[in-house]
Amino acid sequence: MSVSGGEIDDLKKCEHCQPRTVLFESMQITFLGTSAGAPTKARNVSAVALRRGGTWDLFDCGEATQHRLLSTPLSLPKLRRVFISHLHGDHCFGLFGLLGSRSMAGADTAVDIYGPEGLEEMVRLVLSTSDSHITYPLEFHTVPEGGARVVENADETIDAIALDHRVTSFAWSIRESERPGAFDADRATALGVTSGPDFGRLRQGESVEGSAGEVRPTDVIGPKRPGRSLIIAGDNRDPGRLLEESGPVQLLVHEATFTEDAVERIGDDRGHSTAGRVGKAAAEQGVGNVILTHFSPRYGPSGSSGQTVDDLKTEAREHYTGKLYLAEDFATYELDPDGALSANAAANRS
Ligand SMILES: [Zn+2]
Repeated sequence: MSVSGGEIDDLKKCEHCQPRTVLFESMQITFLGTSAGAPTKARNVSAVALRRGGTWDLFDCGEATQHRLLSTPLSLPKLRRVFISHLHGDHCFGLFGLLGSRSMAGADTAVDIYGPEGLEEMVRLVLSTSDSHITYPLEFHTVPEGGARVVENADETIDAIALDHRVTSFAWSIRESERPGAFDADRATALGVTSGPDFGRLRQGESVEGSAGEVRPTDVIGPKRPGRSLIIAGDNRDPGRLLEESGPVQLLVHEATFTEDAVERIGDDRGHSTAGRVGKAAAEQGVGNVILTHFSPRYGPSGSSGQTVDDLKTEAREHYTGKLYLAEDFATYELDPDGALSANAAANRS
């Protein structure tokens, strides 16, 4: 399914509502790179795409992220925002080429870029010294060291939360606005309202005539429902502190660079998490869904000999019993409107 042509397919409509009433919009999270520091044959360096409706946002942009995009349904002209957690190369060296290719793809809509101090300087210097001409507006938003709310509109808020790493690093806490309450069609029918335009009026907040008098929206529509909430974190030694600061979330996407025994051997001064540390923090804070990523290249593929990502999973499982995935490149997950997470194998790769 292509992003440009797939908007309508993405939108599930309530059968009882007017045809244009959009209730649920899909949210897909695609991993474009899951390796820490350097790429491996199977894993590129960090990048995550978040797709809702017809546009998408990019979280980190390691080198060759644009090559990964070529094997997905995501198109560069539909990219809306870029969030860079920190300025280590495995999280941002892919940005220059990707922005240039977006120009060559004929994009004319602006891209908003959020990140720490120094990002704008880095990007503008590379683009100017390489004589790269960007055909669309680049809007930079420098996040202060301590973090800040960076997006606030009718649909959502996004907060940058400062992390514990060797350089300034952020997590992005995305919270969608409340959704309307559920419409109880059976109840409306029982009250003598005929399916059709009157159902639509009720949903729009108008009262209508039923078989025994007036039917008000509150008679047939439940309380407002919370929007989705997720965190996509950059490199971070202390996931517990992040979750304490963020408050409850439905999904945590977090690095698990090492196992505990690796950190005991090499020391804890690299500013990274272990799988056990993330599992423990997620369990303590009641996070229902966790996706681990950013694995040290020392961990081979599942089932291979030596240290593998299975070791990371086992360690996280010692603490955490919720829904847990270890991301692979091109893996796509869907967070449904009620906050349930599932792997979406069909969307993985085009
Ligand atoms: Zn990193």
